Amino acid sequence: MERAKKMGSEIIRMKIIYVDIDGTICHSKTDKNGKWDYNLSEPRYDQIEKINKLHSEGHEIVYWTARGGTTGIDWGRHTKQQIDNWGCQYTRIETQKKPHYDLFICDKTKRIEEI
Ligand SMILES: [Mg+2]
Repeated sequence: MERAKKMGSEIIRMKIIYVDIDGTICHSKTDKNGKWDYNLSEPRYDQIEKINKLHSEGHEIVYWTARGGTTGIDWGRHTKQQIDNWGCQYTRIETQKKPHYDLFICDKTKRIEEI
């Protein structure tokens, strides 16, 4: 289903945009034992602003994360609270569906620095 929006004389196709969290809109850190501790994550407000702009333009923003994917720890509630506190605007969050991987190769990807 394609949605479109008219902005001035321009017609913009609304996109469904999946946005990674760790390393993308925040800096994530490990604890003293080397395990990821998302309580220590620090927001990258300059990057969050870019995503908020896309959301305000009408694009569907889905924050998704593999947090807990290998440990089984459910970071869902914490993640929602965290990104709400950082002022992130979004359509929904998916915390259980993203697979854990080391490299993602796809023709539709961009690093947030490229946006
Ligand atoms: Mg990441």
